[in-house]
Amino acid sequence: MLIENFTGSRNNLTLRESYDLIVCGGGVAGVCCAITASRQGAKVAIVQDRPVLGGNASSEVRLWVLGATASMGNNNRWAREGGVINEILLENIYRNREGNSILFDMVLIDKVQAEKNITLYLNTVIHSVNKKNKTNIKSIECFNAQNSTSYILSAKFFADCTGDGIVAYNSGASFRMGAEDRDEFFEGFAQDKEKYGELLGHSMYFYTKDTGKSVKYIAPAIAHKDVSSAIPHLRSINPKEAGLSLWWFEWGGRLNTVHDTEKIRFELLKVVYGVWDYIKNSGNYPEMDTYTLEWVSTIPGKRESRRFMGYYMLNQNDIIEQKFHYDDVAFGGWSIDLHPADGVYSSLSSSTHMHAQGIYTIPYRCYVSRDIDNLFICGRMASATHVAHGSTRVIGTCSHGAQAVGMAAALCVKKGVMPKYFTDEKNVKELQKELIFYGQHIPDVSFENTITGKAIISASSTLELEDMGFECGYMPLSNDKAVIIPINGMSHEVTIKYKALNNTTLIAELRCSKKVENFSPEVLLESQSHDLLAGEGELYINFEPSIDKGYAFITFVKNQSIELMMSSSLISSVLTVEKTYRQTPRKEYGCEEFDFWTPKRRPQYKNIALKFHEKVSSFSVENLKSAIFRPSITSNCWVADMGDNHPWLELKWSSAQKISTIRLFFDVDYDHAMESAHREQPESVMPYCVKNFRIKDQDGNLLCDVKNNYQAIYNLSFENAKNISGLKMEFEKPMDNVPAALFGIVCL
Ligand SMILES: Cc1cc2nc3c(=O)[nH]c(=O)nc-3n(C[C@H](O)[C@H](O)[C@H](O)COP(=O)(O)OP(=O)(O)OC[C@H]3O[C@@H](n4cnc5c(N)ncnc54)[C@H](O)[C@@H]3O)c2cc1C
Repeated sequence: MLIENFTGSRNNLTLRESYDLIVCGGGVAGVCCAITASRQGAKVAIVQDRPVLGGNASSEVRLWVLGATASMGNNNRWAREGGVINEILLENIYRNREGNSILFDMVLIDKVQAEKNITLYLNTVIHSVNKKNKTNIKSIECFNAQNSTSYILSAKFFADCTGDGIVAYNSGASFRMGAEDRDEFFEGFAQDKEKYGELLGHSMYFYTKDTGKSVKYIAPAIAHKDVSSAIPHLRSINPKEAGLSLWWFEWGGRLNTVHDTEKIRFELLKVVYGVWDYIKNSGNYPEMDTYTLEWVSTIPGKRESRRFMGYYMLNQNDIIEQKFHYDDVAFGGWSIDLHPADGVYSSLSSSTHMHAQGIYTIPYRCYVSRDIDNLFICGRMASATHVAHGSTRVIGTCSHGAQAVGMAAALCVKKGVMPKYFTDEKNVKELQKELIFYGQHIPDVSFENTITGKAIISASSTLELEDMGFECGYMPLSNDKAVIIPINGMSHEVTIKYKALNNTTLIAELRCSKKVENFSPEVLLESQSHDLLAGEGELYINFEPSIDKGYAFITFVKNQSIELMMSSSLISSVLTVEKTYRQTPRKEYGCEEFDFWTPKRRPQYKNIALKFHEKVSSFSVENLKSAIFRPSITSNCWVADMGDNHPWLELKWSSAQKISTIRLFFDVDYDHAMESAHREQPESVMPYCVKNFRIKDQDGNLLCDVKNNYQAIYNLSFENAKNISGLKMEFEKPMDNVPAALFGIVCL
């Protein structure tokens, strides 16, 4: 028994620890930052105020992770983020393709706990900061109410991923909150501050459940009494929608979104319980009689508050013009997505989106505090204008940037330098290289893949694409459709099979993007009209212009009287897309008018079947020597022949190479948005992904025999570097309709 006598006062149990890097805030960005740093050998702590990881994507708030794929709703092809966030999403879809947020929590916990260099402090609130001097943080002070323990945690570096920026704020770092004037960065999309407000609001979600029997609902006193007149968009509500679909239940953008959070939370609870009262008791929705409220979030999802100042502030023009910067370390691609500050009570459209024609890049300088020497700023609090934040704030983009910070912090530890070191044009190359070789895609940045580059590579077969397979039935040409293909200077002679419902004319076009790295086919190179007689037939099309670099769009213009024969084959770096929507911005927005060409999602997805008269030879083993591990300007992949069920690759060097790591980069369908929650995904392993493979050395010694792979990167490390003069890699074809493919082999 413990008996303690009166002492006058006591202090909490206080523990002190020190780390290389403390990641403050365990949202998805914080998790990706910490894992990246820990895998580089840094001693890392994550301090998270709540009982689970994931921030807004956790089961407490229940958003989904989205990023540059923009949910496959714009022209950003193969744009899912790489590195740790990709690994997490692949793990999640493998375990949890139904998108259950509770299971996503556990994916994050497992990933963090698998890292021996990470100490996880859950339920631990950071409340203050101790400084070494004016520009250097010494430690943070935290408290865990569950174990009644205070912590004083010191570190060489701090990555503030808390959203509101508790560490950056307390350390005195400069920040902004609200919207910039349009003229400051010449941002045409900046809204009228009076009418629109200056901040995005918070939201709270709820889930409902059909119990199968009549359920009475008596609203709590807090419930809004007159939602039908207070909420202009309520008229269009689908009462069966819940969770993420009601993202527009938003409010608080005219208040202080840090200090007024409790007030905003109560207002949102008032809205949720009032709307449910309206659904259940207004008499307008008799079909909801058997429904009950199953869950209401207790924590508001925050979109925007403080934005801290880095050495660079990303702005609208970086995004829309897709500007490159010497120190790019991440990319984004969500639209600039602005919401009226009055949220649910506003009669304005709940959101206005402006997309760039492709993905844009984010410089390292956005993630380094310009005031505090050992502080990184990550996630939604990173350095961007209010308008740019409208795009950078999504979780995939936040996480990709945070990974760059994790890597930078680990390199700072190894090299004994400060974060500012990598803002230098020469120095940042080392950071970019490390990131890329761990799966981070940085458009326009690539490095020599040295050891693989020296190898002579042979393969059991290489796809010479001639016939995509005319075996999947006809599909109406109900929209403009295009096959996008890395044709790289080859001829564009194709044959299609069609069914014409009556005599009609098919318009076929050859298109490409103005910017070679985009998938936005605004350049019309040639248009041809072909008269078709009613019935089935084959049509030979020969386009004159050639496209030397980048993707060709072989396009067929909408015609309700025509159906085209489809193919079920799925070939890495080839896609069929259709024109779905045109962005028509107001002139003053400074954004471009263009069409969106998007693929259908599987299982509906099919390719238009094409026969190429000159074989497409874009899938050579030489692609494995680059360090770009997804389709970009070209396929960047080796693809085996469709008939090759047991393809292999052989690498031979003229002299033995000292190799300590072999890394393979598989095709995990970077075009797939892979949302972490809310939506059921059609498969749990990407169909393009090689699942079973083996690697042998020059003497036939088995180095690994892997079964059921579903990840993008396979990393084989040897405790002691080996002398290797040859490698043989044996793969199993992933599926009947999918040839084996590989984006890269890195030997280190
Ligand atoms: C309603 C809504 C809808 C959205 N829709 C989408 C969407 O569909 N897809 C998408 O990708 N993004 C969406 N966003 C944007 C996205 O959720 C946020 O911008 C993103 O979560 C920011 O990531 P973060 O890691 O910076 O912050 P968070 O996810 O908020 O993570 C910050 C973490 O820090 C912790 N923390 C905060 N203060 C402290 C402290 N003092 N001590 C310790 N820990 C602390 C928090 O608990 C939290 O876990 C939406 C946002 C909202 C609110």
